[in-house]
Amino acid sequence: MRKRNLRLVVVLILMVFGVFDSAAQKKSKDESGTNLKTSPKLVVGIVVDQMRYDYLTRFWNHYDEGGFKRLVNEGYNCKNNHFNYAPTSTGPGHTSVYTGAAPATHGVIGNDWYDKETGLSVYCASDDSYESVGTATDAGKMSPHRMNVTTITDELRLHTQMRGKTIAIALKDRGAVLPGGHTANAAYWFQGADEGNWITSTYYMKELPKWVNDFNTSDAVEKYKKPWNTTKPINTYMESGSDNNRYEGLFETETSPTFPHSTPNLLNKKKDFEIIKYTPYGNSLTTEFALAAIVGEDLGSDAVTDFLAISYSSTDYIGHKYGVNSKEVQDTYIQLDADLEKLLTTLDKKVGKDEYTVFLTADHGAIDVPAYLSDQKIPADYFAYDSIAPKFNAFLQYKFGTANVVKSFSNYQFFLDHKVVKNLDIEIAKAQEIIADELLNYEGIDRVYTGHQMMQNNYTKGIPYILQNGYNQKRSGDVLVVLKPGVISYPRTGSTHGSPQIYDTHVPLLFYGKGIQKGSTVMRTEIPDIAPTIAALLGIAFPNGTTGEPIVKVLE
Ligand code: ZN
Ligand code: ZN
Ligand code: ZN
Repeated sequence: MRKRNLRLVVVLILMVFGVFDSAAQKKSKDESGTNLKTSPKLVVGIVVDQMRYDYLTRFWNHYDEGGFKRLVNEGYNCKNNHFNYAPTSTGPGHTSVYTGAAPATHGVIGNDWYDKETGLSVYCASDDSYESVGTATDAGKMSPHRMNVTTITDELRLHTQMRGKTIAIALKDRGAVLPGGHTANAAYWFQGADEGNWITSTYYMKELPKWVNDFNTSDAVEKYKKPWNTTKPINTYMESGSDNNRYEGLFETETSPTFPHSTPNLLNKKKDFEIIKYTPYGNSLTTEFALAAIVGEDLGSDAVTDFLAISYSSTDYIGHKYGVNSKEVQDTYIQLDADLEKLLTTLDKKVGKDEYTVFLTADHGAIDVPAYLSDQKIPADYFAYDSIAPKFNAFLQYKFGTANVVKSFSNYQFFLDHKVVKNLDIEIAKAQEIIADELLNYEGIDRVYTGHQMMQNNYTKGIPYILQNGYNQKRSGDVLVVLKPGVISYPRTGSTHGSPQIYDTHVPLLFYGKGIQKGSTVMRTEIPDIAPTIAALLGIAFPNGTTGEPIVKVLE
């Protein structure tokens, strides 16, 4: 009793001196249970395809105040955020962000993978049981059916009795279909080719809504038929290598990989809208379409939380073509920064400044072009499966009497023909081990693990931990290969990703807006932590395969 009186006196004194700060108020609210959940009118999930963490820091001085800087300065920055699995590619990346799980659980083990049941290669988002909407091609025959669990977007739909809307948008089909989850109102992606339209699948609807048709018939796409020049004078781009070098790919008809890239000539000649994807205009087009969706779908207009999932794909196409250190990548991020500013200011106006919550992350990182690294005396190289195939097949023939024991090689995994192996009276685990031992002899291969090891052990850190999180017992292969750091299977121009190495796992994670604290951390966070963090914020159920944990400091 006396203690309580004392506390009252202290509180009164604090109040008199005006130091009864808002943090204390918030805390007392929590304790009384009135802050059980935060309900922004809209959650905006942004995935930047192939964005390395250091793109935030390297290009920082070129960013304006309203884009990346606004998210970092006024939001929460997880500086040590990683994919906790391999393969680090787009399909698994988007799925893991939205499911709070890794491929071991959600089943999306690659963009494409060898399907053990049918013996065919399958694509993560394809579904022949649906038809295209908005295109005469097969590009719309998609659904999330290969994703075995729910997404944060699904859980929001369930929680709100389907009253909260989910709209997912990306140039790439998988960048929209997987984040949208199983219950999205719509997922839209871009059919380039000779069409240049936003399309979807009958999984979502029978025909495109009016606002999408209006967008498609407007000049929104046509106006990006312009040469790609740098937004700022190119000589101010001190944070990237020379424009003209042998580490960059060329557009058809180009003789050097230099600005300006005169893409419209090519676009007109070939009538091929795909080219827009390979310029920053692909991201601007995505932004414009997202803004049209906010209006067309009335997103964030009432008290029921809606979800807008945006994925920026052009960053990946450009990274693959020009590489991590290129002027082209630098300009792409400077232009994306302007697109983000446009998105955020529109959200301020349409939804309300403190009425929405944003997260921004990536679906994987990328490696610097190995040819460039090698020229800087850094160990780096290229690995081609074809170059080991003759010796490897000869080994299989010698050891097993047939090369048919190996059925497929995809996502750095060998799939064995279990029937053939069993007919030879060899245990699968033994065959895996024999093959693993052999593969370790080849140049460029750093480590080899077996499916048996993945099933028998419980790895808690390092490369085997990352491989195990990517290892789905029903879908993954028999022998897992890890190349040396700096070694990739790819042409000699441009960057790629897919490995368990740190350059592919380290990506940004920013939170901003309603319910989010200001701050930053260098404590390790992992991609599957994103969905449970948002679920905890919203006070809704976690996606049903969640293995990550809410990042407490973001919400405190
Ligand atoms: Zn990607
Ligand atoms: Zn260049
Ligand atoms: Zn990629």
